[in-house]
Amino acid sequence: TEETLVLVKPDGVARGLTGEILARIEAKGYALVDLRLVEPDRDRLAAHYAEHEGKPFYEPLLEFMMSGPSVAIRLAGNRVIEGFRSLAGTTDPTSAAPGTIRGDLGRDWGLAVQQNLVHGSDSPESAARELSIWF
Ligand code: ATP
Repeated sequence: TEETLVLVKPDGVARGLTGEILARIEAKGYALVDLRLVEPDRDRLAAHYAEHEGKPFYEPLLEFMMSGPSVAIRLAGNRVIEGFRSLAGTTDPTSAAPGTIRGDLGRDWGLAVQQNLVHGSDSPESAARELSIWF
């Protein structure tokens, strides 16, 4: 089995979509190992998003992620890293496939950062690193 970090980002929490997102995760059969509401400070977010430092959306991304609480989830299952990213859909909610979290529920607000409801680790190395940041 494998573990990944999932975040329900501030837009998902603020829009009341945490339950809907958790329902999709549970219906798929993944196991909730740990779950917490987190209001991350800049240091935690800078660690999480280190690979994006210097990109045009970096500052707006950190501001957005500090705009309210996120729900951090330690999720387990066979191939859960790939599986959750498949459930989430692609980054841009407008082009994300219907049937995915972002495709069904994500909105393009026309802002400098994509408020796309969720985050999921993209590799075993990222998952280990990110889980240590949020838990
Ligand atoms: P995915 O790779 O599927 O998007 P992710 O959430 O890990 O998942 P990253 O590429 O790591 O995406 O980018 C982190 C976050 O930064 C995105 O989820 C989104 O909120 C924001 N972001 C990424 N690229 C852009 C972009 N070109 N314009 C605006 N915001 C972006």
